[in-house]
Amino acid sequence: VNKDKIDIRQLDTLAEMSYPLCMRQLHQRLRSAHHLKHFGRQQYGLFLKGIGVSLEDALLFWRSEFTKGMDPDKFERSYAYNVRHMYGREGKRANYAPQNCMKIISAPFAPGQFHGCPFKTLDPPGLTKALQGNGLSVLAQHEVVDLAKKGHFQLACSAFFSHTHKGSEQILIGHPNQYFDESQRIFTG
Ligand code: SF4
Repeated sequence: VNKDKIDIRQLDTLAEMSYPLCMRQLHQRLRSAHHLKHFGRQQYGLFLKGIGVSLEDALLFWRSEFTKGMDPDKFERSYAYNVRHMYGREGKRANYAPQNCMKIISAPFAPGQFHGCPFKTLDPPGLTKALQGNGLSVLAQHEVVDLAKKGHFQLACSAFFSHTHKGSEQILIGHPNQYFDESQRIFTG
């Protein structure tokens, strides 16, 4: 990871602007429930590392949300290790890479979880609602839902990108961090 440092106070803005739908869902869920289950923490935590959030800031960010629903000791005991682990500071000190679309799409999933690829995990009404909430026109919603229904999850994601980045050239999405980088390139030059 070789990026400018991301300011965690900007995450809400960045989520709205440049996150793929999978990460938008996790960010919104974390903000509203102040908790994410294991797979969600892995998927979102490694993405954040990939966009340039430092370990210190990642700890601040997760702690600030989780401690809205649990006491700080519990966070330190049960969750801080997990964050440091993602940054290779615990256990076997591996440098874990952010997950790509194939890995996210094939992750085991159960109802009530928020990780995974929403183009696969959401049913058509749920996906339509999510797309509407992200400002897609009715026509665009149909196009994306149709692709998702046919099992073309990454094409659905690419279409979502096109509709939320007007005038951009068509890109094929293979990695949520690639999605983020392309988006930032368009919005910030
Ligand atoms: Fe995320 Fe990839 Fe699915 Fe897009 S296709 S929502 S980047 S997992």
